[in-house]
Amino acid sequence: MKLKIIGSGNARSKEICASTLIDDTILVDAGHGVYKKLLQENVDIKSLEAIFITHLHTDHFIDLTAIVAHRNILKDDDPNVPTLRIYLPVGGIEALRVIALNTLDQNIDPDTWMHFSSKIKEYDNHPIHFKDYEIKALKVDHAAMVPSYGLIFKTKDHIVGFSGDSKTCPNITKIIKASDTLVIDTSYPTECIFHMGLDTVINFAEEYPEKLFLGTHISNEVRNSKHELPKNLHLLRDGEIY
Ligand SMILES: [Zn+2]
Repeated sequence: MKLKIIGSGNARSKEICASTLIDDTILVDAGHGVYKKLLQENVDIKSLEAIFITHLHTDHFIDLTAIVAHRNILKDDDPNVPTLRIYLPVGGIEALRVIALNTLDQNIDPDTWMHFSSKIKEYDNHPIHFKDYEIKALKVDHAAMVPSYGLIFKTKDHIVGFSGDSKTCPNITKIIKASDTLVIDTSYPTECIFHMGLDTVINFAEEYPEKLFLGTHISNEVRNSKHELPKNLHLLRDGEIY
């Protein structure tokens, strides 16, 4: 599985919001800056096949509107543009609809706009089968943002886990145990009620030395701090490929 890091930052860092492109076709999270970064990285918006949103905080969700708008224009020009699959947590369809209702021209119906080039589904903890991937969503603990999910993408060769935004909780441990590579919330120097910290992730990396930990959602405080990291932990940078 190829992972292209579109963004590695949190809401207030200089970097683009945490987002990963899997195998050039599946995007995990689309917070602010992600759409422009896709264009800067020459990712063809037409080639996106699916988008998964882990939770509805704007730094994971808000650029979905820009991607849907771009895809609609492509579909308007060429009816053969394939349908984009969008997977949202419960409440996501209504959230997207409210944005569309309040930001589009008055003569555009928000439901028609949302579904013109995309098939949008709200997911729960049932496994999702998409092409050669089996995807499992597990509820994680992101304080009052409910639901928030972590995701496991499994192919015959690799298992990549995404923590989404979460503090340590039993499902984070499950995601780590099930995966060989982790894209993991490393927001602040120390764990808080919303997020894991560098301290937590270093502990996990030491506990599971056979797994690769890729820290994301990184704050300026973590980025600017001096620290010695275990060999199997890397703090991600925008644009990197794994
Ligand atoms: Zn969040």
